[in-house]
Amino acid sequence: MHFTRIRLQGFKSFVDQTELSIAPGLTGVVGPNGCGKSNLLEALRWVMGENRPTAMRGGGMEDVIFAGASSRPARNFAEVTLQLDNSDRLAPPGFNDSDVLEIVRRITRDVGSAYKTNGKDARARDVQMLFADASTGAHSPALVRQGQIAELINAKPKARRRILEEAAGISGLYQRRHEAELK
Ligand code: ATP
Ligand code: MG
Repeated sequence: MHFTRIRLQGFKSFVDQTELSIAPGLTGVVGPNGCGKSNLLEALRWVMGENRPTAMRGGGMEDVIFAGASSRPARNFAEVTLQLDNSDRLAPPGFNDSDVLEIVRRITRDVGSAYKTNGKDARARDVQMLFADASTGAHSPALVRQGQIAELINAKPKARRRILEEAAGISGLYQRRHEAELK
């Protein structure tokens, strides 16, 4: 399973619909300061279920919506669509009925977030679990943001262990155990 396309609309600086293809393997994002590199990475985390405003460099969840510029009015919603190639059929049960997996997240002002997987309404938790089991996801070490290499080098052993567990694809199990213990 791997990412193939990302489409952004009204998300931070991506006011007009922008679509990018993602090739298998390592992808680097380069460009001048302020062109939207970090915003693009945040869009990828966000569509996978990121819900911490701090991870999105904003005060509230609605701060991801295009806030307007001198020549353009603000938008009322932000939407990110992520397409994955599932021809190896490695998606978890419930998501595994087609070769292409498409996840859409949309946030509307004063309404909140809604998710769809392959056109059907989904819960945030379903999307988060899908990616936790696929050992990627919003907190994934596969997405390396600015400054993260230095953080990894300076991390305390316990924090470093979490990163390795995430990479090994067992963090979904921890989340389920935690939820089971709360019941
Ligand atoms: P650097 O090389 O400095 O790290 P970058 O390419 O990572 O830059 P980003 O941080 O992704 O750039 O983009 C910053 C731009 O996004 C700024 O111009 C900022 O005003 C704009 N921006 C962020 N959030 C919004 C929003 N909600 N609405 C409109 N513009 C936004
Ligand atoms: Mg940046």
